[in-house]
Amino acid sequence: MLTDNALQILNDRYLLNRNPKETPDELFRRVAKYVANAEETNKDIWEQKFYEIMSNLAFLPNSPTLMNAGLENGQLSACFVLPVEDSLEAIFTTLKNAALIHQSGGGTGYNFSKLRPKDDLVSSSGGTSSGPIAFMKIYDSATEYVKQGGKRRGANMGILNISHPDIEEFIVSKSDGTSLQNFNISIGITDSFMKAVSKDKDWKLVNPRTQKIQKVVRASKLWNSITREAWKTGDPGLIFLDTINKNNPIPEQGRIGSTNPCGEVPLLDYESCNLGSLNLTKIVKQEEGKVYIDWAKLDTHINVAIRFLDNVISVNHYLIPEVERISKANRKIGLGVMGWAELLIILGIPYASQEAVELGEKLMGFIKTKSYDASITLGKERGTFLTWKESLHEPAEPLRNATCNSIAPTGSISVIANTSYSIEPLYALHYKRVGILENKTQIEVNIFFIEKMKQLGLWNKQVEIEVMHTGSIKGLKSIPKEIKKLFETSMEISWEYHLLHQQAFQKYTDNAVSKTINLPETTMVKDVADIYWAAWERQLKGITIYRNNSRAHQILQHCGLN
Ligand code: ADP
Repeated sequence: MLTDNALQILNDRYLLNRNPKETPDELFRRVAKYVANAEETNKDIWEQKFYEIMSNLAFLPNSPTLMNAGLENGQLSACFVLPVEDSLEAIFTTLKNAALIHQSGGGTGYNFSKLRPKDDLVSSSGGTSSGPIAFMKIYDSATEYVKQGGKRRGANMGILNISHPDIEEFIVSKSDGTSLQNFNISIGITDSFMKAVSKDKDWKLVNPRTQKIQKVVRASKLWNSITREAWKTGDPGLIFLDTINKNNPIPEQGRIGSTNPCGEVPLLDYESCNLGSLNLTKIVKQEEGKVYIDWAKLDTHINVAIRFLDNVISVNHYLIPEVERISKANRKIGLGVMGWAELLIILGIPYASQEAVELGEKLMGFIKTKSYDASITLGKERGTFLTWKESLHEPAEPLRNATCNSIAPTGSISVIANTSYSIEPLYALHYKRVGILENKTQIEVNIFFIEKMKQLGLWNKQVEIEVMHTGSIKGLKSIPKEIKKLFETSMEISWEYHLLHQQAFQKYTDNAVSKTINLPETTMVKDVADIYWAAWERQLKGITIYRNNSRAHQILQHCGLN
């Protein structure tokens, strides 16, 4: 059932290097057995259910769980946020913690806005500060050299708020195409900034140390600089702090200032989150020659997956005491999806259609409801999360977990499951996958495409050659319009539909959605501005775009960093 690509990635990064080497089946057994340790009764039954859902590729947890479950001191979470306080000691304590997290396969996000700006006074030394961007460069170098057990380099999210005096430098900090390569960067945006842009007002940059206004700039000047840079390189993205905090389930614990590296989990300082994704191509059934979503099966998968993810919190090994305390108090988990584009193809619904957007909303609505039901059942059995009473969750919802859902990029696990990434449209019908496996280039033709074309009697040499050359069937006169529409690829789909899908899934995702709006090279700066603006208006939690060929080294997905 595993493809060559899946076997290769498993072999290179996931299977234990003992003698003889672990097999994929043994990997799934190891993970299932370890995660079932959280069960007090019926441990064997749950182990079997966990094993089946993973080995059938219907659900996979995030990479660190697959890699580390059952190992001594195995760290199982993918997502962390760490504090960056304004002192040399605090900055380097966090760097040490980040290195430990990266070594274990996790990714870290930070908001650097508490750091005093460049050239500001440092009273202890009588000198001046290097500023947030210089410290980010140190984090970046450290990441470069802490390779995770020879498997993958760490990933970081760096955020600076729009009112920080160094924001202009931050916006262009990746402009040269070589700096901060191990960082995704995002601007922490507030509603008042967006209003200042719309009214073309001045905007104050405030020194976080003194709280004094250091500089005043036109809001629209900053906005133009952000969108120009994003057009040029894909960075910076935006995170919408007010929208995130409006949806912060436990505001008493403070304001959320950052997300994990790919943006799908807003977290408090020291919080961690473990993720898992349901493979949507595994929840279809055929009746009288027609294909349907098997909602009952999906419900079963959700139940097993939520229990699995909650167990991970209990059996996890925490590298940092602060992380253990807050992660166990809030018990955040993030169940999401992969294979959305392929499910749509199986159902014969084009991605760029109202029908697809509506189905996305219905599907995620179902996943959210069933995830919450499963978490409430666990709450009754095992107790609610410790801070439940402080949370904004309804008294009628004695949940086990402060959050239940996230849409992760699934950069590696969708390769293992052999399906399309997350909720992304197909990138191409045929493409080279560079960078996943060191120095190797994989060529793939989408299997659902070949199958469908064969069914329709449309698979022939001409189609194959066209797909080999262009990755698309757009230019073929012989193919009917509705088939072309069904197989539109990421860059052929208008940004409007990309955003509508993100919005549909965000509506029922209590954490956030990681999505890259892939754009053709010919896209204009103004389009990027329109997209960023629309993302704020529609109350998304963040936005990332990538314009084709805007970076020299381009892996398949911007967010993957894999
Ligand atoms: P996977 O498919 O490996 O489970 P995803 O691509 O879904 O991972 O990413 C989920 C999260 O895992 C990211 O948002 C990030 O927090 C973390 N992550 C992804 N890639 C890396 C990496 N190379 N190093 C460290 N953390 C990573």
